[in-house]
Amino acid sequence: MKKKILNIEGMTCSACSNGLEKYLNKQEGIIEAVVNLVMATASIQYDEKILGEKDLNRFVKEAGFKSLGEKSKDGNSKHELKIVVFFSISIITLMYITMIKMWNNTIIDFTMILLSVLAIIWGYDIVKNGVKNIIHKMPNMDSLVGIGVMVTFLYSIYNILNGKEVYFESVIMIILFIKIGRYIDKKNKAKAVDAIKGLVTITPKKAVILKNGIEKTVTINEIEKDDIIICRPGEKIAVDGVIVKGTTHTDESFLTGESKPVSKKEGSNVMAGSINYDGYIEYKAVNIGKDSNISHIVDLVVEATNTKAPIARMADIISGYFVPIIFIISICSFILNIVITKNFSQAITSLVSVLVVACPCALGLATPLAMVVSIGNASKKGILIKSSESIEAINKIDTVIFDKTGTLTKGELEITDEKYIRLEDKEQILKLLISLEKKSNHPIAKSICRDSKDLFEVNEFEEIAGQGIKGKISGKTYFAGNRKYVENNEIKNIFEKEEEKFTQKGKTIVYFWDENEMLGIIGLSDKIKNDSKSTIEKLKRLGKRVIMLSGDNSKTAEIIANELQIDEVYGNILPEGKVEKIKELNNNKNVLMVGDGVNDSPALRTATIGVSVSNGTDISSDSSDIVMLTSDMEKIIDIFNIGKKTMKIIKENLFWALFYNLCMIPLATGLMPISLNPMIAAFAMTMSSLTVVINSLRLRN
Ligand code: ADP
Ligand code: MG
Repeated sequence: MKKKILNIEGMTCSACSNGLEKYLNKQEGIIEAVVNLVMATASIQYDEKILGEKDLNRFVKEAGFKSLGEKSKDGNSKHELKIVVFFSISIITLMYITMIKMWNNTIIDFTMILLSVLAIIWGYDIVKNGVKNIIHKMPNMDSLVGIGVMVTFLYSIYNILNGKEVYFESVIMIILFIKIGRYIDKKNKAKAVDAIKGLVTITPKKAVILKNGIEKTVTINEIEKDDIIICRPGEKIAVDGVIVKGTTHTDESFLTGESKPVSKKEGSNVMAGSINYDGYIEYKAVNIGKDSNISHIVDLVVEATNTKAPIARMADIISGYFVPIIFIISICSFILNIVITKNFSQAITSLVSVLVVACPCALGLATPLAMVVSIGNASKKGILIKSSESIEAINKIDTVIFDKTGTLTKGELEITDEKYIRLEDKEQILKLLISLEKKSNHPIAKSICRDSKDLFEVNEFEEIAGQGIKGKISGKTYFAGNRKYVENNEIKNIFEKEEEKFTQKGKTIVYFWDENEMLGIIGLSDKIKNDSKSTIEKLKRLGKRVIMLSGDNSKTAEIIANELQIDEVYGNILPEGKVEKIKELNNNKNVLMVGDGVNDSPALRTATIGVSVSNGTDISSDSSDIVMLTSDMEKIIDIFNIGKKTMKIIKENLFWALFYNLCMIPLATGLMPISLNPMIAAFAMTMSSLTVVINSLRLRN
């Protein structure tokens, strides 16, 4: 199975994207195709044994569109602007001349025919697309407009021969309005997509590498893994790496939204795209090209815009029926007009007006455009939302569950209490413990291993989630973990009293023992993050039920919960226990779980929405729905706000799109007290789709 994201040219409304999507999904060898109207892409999963890229391009062509391949090309919009301006000015001037009747009638007629032909040539893509899509039984907006224009044009030619009224100005103005509208739409859509594409251009094009003591400037593609790269103050980091020399502060705000400089020293990781503030550093390239963090992030965000929220599916279903229904209405209106008014010209006018005034485009753009703007915007704040579904789901969340260590607390633990079997062995025991912990990724391990060197070699290392770790040092097995782990291993616990004493003070407990006896117990203290308390308060004010689940001992968990004013707390819970608890709540609740992406991943997957607190590394393997690239808890409130605002805009968009169509189509039939002519209809249609676009862009602030 393979996956490709193709750029598609020629899609203008959701009937197009739906049509293409259906067509692709029908083909043998295509497993799943998702077409994204706003990003103008088709992401296709297919069996590479049956199909190749050529076949995919052919399918796209058969459906009436053009595949531009995987690389996105920025359209030459300057060129396009010139054409729009040129046509607009010449058409308006000539129309003006004809209106003030400077010429005699024959010349006017002739000029109008000429102008109409020019306009049709300009709008040839609309007519061509429209007809193609009717042939493929996927009529779209172009089909409506194309037929409207051609009917008007041919009828006017017929009338000219009979010396009757002509409607060339309608042909010209319809095309003019639609072209201008599409141009503005495209510009605005590009603004929405920019937020996402902007991430790609964040890395510098060149870098200075150090080879055999000589500095050499190379392009970013020439950098290889393990190359040493020099970065001076004010320059950008070119690839993900680890500092081998020097200290500095970097600005990672493009990823985290956090403008505070991060201090870096030898051994620290640096990320491609961040800015080196004030130090000279040399760093070793670790992840290059497609493997870099920023590249994963861009993939994730683009992927997210390819997903469809339930509300978008609903809009898609409506717009799938929309175009055929409009054709039926326009024909009915034509017949009714003939029957009632017996005026053929008016019947034609109503037919064309209905075709041109209907706006499936506003309906189709209402949801995806708002989603793209929101997802792009959130990613700038350091919140990676992996699917549109989550944005809709956020609004139904009523329970928020937090993990403790590393989520509500900083996860930087310090040993504050300790007791060893023999005090004189303290150094030796600690060295054994630290050697073992060096292999673990748990916050406890990371905290106590900091700056440790010269350790024992550990073999057969094993981690038991929520309990502890074990491993062999010089042939002897050592264990470290919590009380549950001690009990499971049936080792005599001589430190029960100490445990009670330490937990009374809210410490996290780690026992350490070997095959024969208990060796020591340590109590660690963690600090609560600065914004944890205020975040919980805000969540409560929003009416959310807040729960803390922790693998730490119950007493310690309670003490921390108390400080944070969390009323519901469960300690001593294994990772499976967290999953069980969420399932229990999930029965009648929508649960959002915040935890770390590695230890808590089963729980994050079970929750309605899983939010992982990441330190910006290894985002690709994360199984949550939303990744926070900073550890600020306040971002949880942002997530709720984003969900609320986005859905508000989407509902407004859908309302206006539906309301507009419901009002305008009856007027266009000409059977109401007020009626529209095709020119005004085209103008109204353009305005309606612009409203949706502009309303969605409000989400950028
Ligand atoms: P939390 O839910 O608070 O994040 P975990 O489920 O990750 O806690 O861990 C629960 C307990 O298991 C810890 O408090 C600790 O006592 C023990 N533990 C887990 N991993 C380790 C480790 N690497 N070293 C020592 N103890 C560990
Ligand atoms: Mg944890």
